[in-house]
Amino acid sequence: MRIDVLSIFPEYLAPLELSLIGKAMTDGVLDLSVTDPRTFATDRHRTVDDTPYGGGAGMVMKPEPWAQALESVTAASPSFRKPVLVVPSPAGEVFTQDVAYELADEKHLVFACGRYEGIDERFIDWASEHAVVRPMSLGDYVLNGGEVAVLAMVEAVTRLIPGVIGNPESLAEESHTGGLLEYPVYTKPAMWRERAIPDMLLSGHHGNIARWRRDQQLHRTAQRRPDMIEQLNPADLNKADLAI
Ligand code: SAM
Repeated sequence: MRIDVLSIFPEYLAPLELSLIGKAMTDGVLDLSVTDPRTFATDRHRTVDDTPYGGGAGMVMKPEPWAQALESVTAASPSFRKPVLVVPSPAGEVFTQDVAYELADEKHLVFACGRYEGIDERFIDWASEHAVVRPMSLGDYVLNGGEVAVLAMVEAVTRLIPGVIGNPESLAEESHTGGLLEYPVYTKPAMWRERAIPDMLLSGHHGNIARWRRDQQLHRTAQRRPDMIEQLNPADLNKADLAI
């Protein structure tokens, strides 16, 4: 997969070179570059923002440097398919694990990190002729810029690419896969600060442990995220689930 991030603060994206994403780049599974739209600004001060039409507080990112930055990365797109342009925005569709799986299937993702009051809307309209545009929110709160959102989204997407996570089985039972949160996990020692691990985990009975974990998932989800329980597909619940 190729990922391009457009940002006027490229240093913000440096952590992407660490850990599993960094390794995926070294292994050639992921080709990730950061482009600064400021390099396409033509005036002496490399201006990328201006005051909003209609008045009001803050500055708006000018469309032209962003359009040129996008053109520079889509010119050599690795696929015949249009790239997906993710525009982080608190006014976007909420980014979820399902969206992460959808994006993990793409060949080329471009992220355009807004700043200030965001990017001139005409850039978004124009970009939809060249890419599949998805305004995407990390959650119902406001950040200073898109970079932090992109760090989270790129990590969530790239760990789903085959070969990035050492043991793919660890993806199967995670929170938000299968509609439930994950069960609690424990490691050695079995007794720590007068707290023992649940007896069931020492039973050695794999079937009972699986059932116990499933019950824990259901209880935890009901307690912390009742909205997720309401959205469960009844067809995904078995008889034992309904008994708890
Ligand atoms: N005035 C905008 C609004 O109310 O919708 C917020 C602008 S915010 C200060 C600046 C930039 O931060 C946005 O353009 C976006 O790139 C990013 N941002 C802020 N909150 C975000 C969120 N919840 N999810 C994704 N990106 C966000």
